[in-house]
Amino acid sequence: MERRRVYLDHTATTPLAPGVLDAMEPYLTERWLSPAGLYRGARALRRELEDARRRVAQLLGAEANDVVFTSSGTESISLAIRGVALASQHRGQHIITTQIEHRAVLDSAKQLEKQGWRVSYLPVDSAGVVDLAALESALDAETTLVSIMLANNEVGSLQPIQEAVRIVKAHGPAIPVHVDAVAAGGFVPIEVQRLGIDLLSLSSHKVGGPKGAGLLWMRRGVLLQAQILGGDQERGRRAGTEDVPAVMGMARALELALPTTEERGEAMRRLCTRLVDGVRESVPRTVVTGHPTERLPHIASFCFEGVDGEALLLQLDVQGVAAASGSACTSATLEPSHVLRAMGVPPALAEGNLRLSLGVENSDEDVDYVVRLLPGVIERMRQLRK
Ligand code: PLP
Repeated sequence: MERRRVYLDHTATTPLAPGVLDAMEPYLTERWLSPAGLYRGARALRRELEDARRRVAQLLGAEANDVVFTSSGTESISLAIRGVALASQHRGQHIITTQIEHRAVLDSAKQLEKQGWRVSYLPVDSAGVVDLAALESALDAETTLVSIMLANNEVGSLQPIQEAVRIVKAHGPAIPVHVDAVAAGGFVPIEVQRLGIDLLSLSSHKVGGPKGAGLLWMRRGVLLQAQILGGDQERGRRAGTEDVPAVMGMARALELALPTTEERGEAMRRLCTRLVDGVRESVPRTVVTGHPTERLPHIASFCFEGVDGEALLLQLDVQGVAAASGSACTSATLEPSHVLRAMGVPPALAEGNLRLSLGVENSDEDVDYVVRLLPGVIERMRQLRK
């Protein structure tokens, strides 16, 4: 079989989309001033940065002043969770999230627990969808924040955010709802008013933008305590000189991705169906995880019985395929995926997890290469285990 190089780990990161580098280039070279300066070039730079903020806000259906630029999705999430919890602790010290969040959420929540907060981690069903009845019963008079991801980055399941918002607001209209939309951005609509939420986190490098940028949108009136101190940037919500080139690159990437969400989603769904059907037909003892229909269009998650996920990744790498098992950010720890555990996947089966996440540059040939490759690789691994 002809050897190819196929990148199928787009939930970890994506290549720069065409045009993004061009949007960044002037700010890496001749327009290098600080946007805080009070001289001619710097004032122009400030206007351009604020214009990028306005354009990004418009894509989200939001106001420019409510967008905070951060260095990553992780920073945005950490600012949302810790920032809201600490700013509203006089009202209560209880927050609610789910068992399947990214570590950016879970580690922020665990840190708050150490500082005296109560945290409810909502369970999910076997399709990886959050239990709304558990949300209803977890809400109490002390609850000051609810954080639920829009879509899970490991198995792709979409979460019922609008229903969750209705439940939260019926209990307490002032309780803010934060959504981690890092995995979902560019693949499902994320207009903040339609979702009815109060805070939203996005990352640049998951949608064809550069690393080093993310954003937090927050509804006006939500209390937030800055987590990085030392300056008045971002209206006092996030100190530090703005990474202008990265923000400009993120703005261009979002301008390319968000208005074409539907077409991108359709293209990814077609490729992903070809991949999932191909693997299901050619590899026996395969379980496809995540919700069968309410899911991100570009993520396929499999569990292969009798296979070690890490060894499988190494075998695929030898054959030119870059993939992941569990979350890309935690795969280095080799812990069984907390998401699959929460979904009730038996540990022995979860061990054989493979996540293939497609991107706009993938082709039918890429998918067919993997579908031809996998049965042999898995068969050999199963034989070795006997
Ligand atoms: N949230 C989710 C759902 C993710 O998938 C990731 C990254 O994998 C993050 C947050 C963290 O984003 P960043 O890499 O920009 O820090």
